Amino acid sequence: CGIVGYVGGQSAQDVVVAGLKRLEYRGYDSAGVAVPADGGLAAAKKAGKLVNLEKELKDRPLPAGNTGLGHTRWATHGGPTDANAHPHLDNAGRVAVVHNGIIENFAVLREELTGRGHHLASETDTEVVAHLLAEAYSSAGELAEAMRQVCRRLEGAFTLVAVHADEPGTVVGARRNSPLVVGVGDGEMFLASDVAAFIAHTRSAIELGQDQVVELRRDGATVTGFDGRPAGTRAYHVDWDA
Ligand code: GLU
Repeated sequence: CGIVGYVGGQSAQDVVVAGLKRLEYRGYDSAGVAVPADGGLAAAKKAGKLVNLEKELKDRPLPAGNTGLGHTRWATHGGPTDANAHPHLDNAGRVAVVHNGIIENFAVLREELTGRGHHLASETDTEVVAHLLAEAYSSAGELAEAMRQVCRRLEGAFTLVAVHADEPGTVVGARRNSPLVVGVGDGEMFLASDVAAFIAHTRSAIELGQDQVVELRRDGATVTGFDGRPAGTRAYHVDWDA
């Protein structure tokens, strides 16, 4: 339902949770965050309102990090439980992904992954993406390229945002038939399903086109098609009040 990504100089967890609050009005049934830090990847997710997640983060703080992502979920596949909440991680816990929309061909992909020895821990359509990203990363060696390869295998409507423990300064997003906007700050960059998530920080935005992947770093963004070709983007100024 709501997605926020961040890379910059601030506490990623704080920026992401604040961004998710700005998206609360859309409705949701669970929420979560992930932060690559200290060579690993830490995540927290809880069914229910954001206050549940905030309590969890207070009781079990994540390591500090300047890159992160978060999600508020509106369940379509699998009930609103902690296990089904996003982010979803691969079995090694190296990659985390959040998703808006529906992966129509998830059942086939799930069967494939199970056959290759992956253990899936949720009932969501989303979780297959975490496992596919982990497999693709092991050959591509780069999260943006892994995302392009995986997106070419997905059917349906999706906004995806992912982070990887081996790329602690990168956030990667992708979209098909579902919105994703980049917020351009000064030494920091944002990704969100809705500009409301980041207008407290910047009014400078880039709208991603259909079937595009964006790699975000503190100092900029690189946009390509799912085929890897450099893509044109539309930069604009967000001038409404929210
Ligand atoms: N289909 C996904 C799920 O049920 C994502 C739902 C959403 O857009 O929040 O987990």
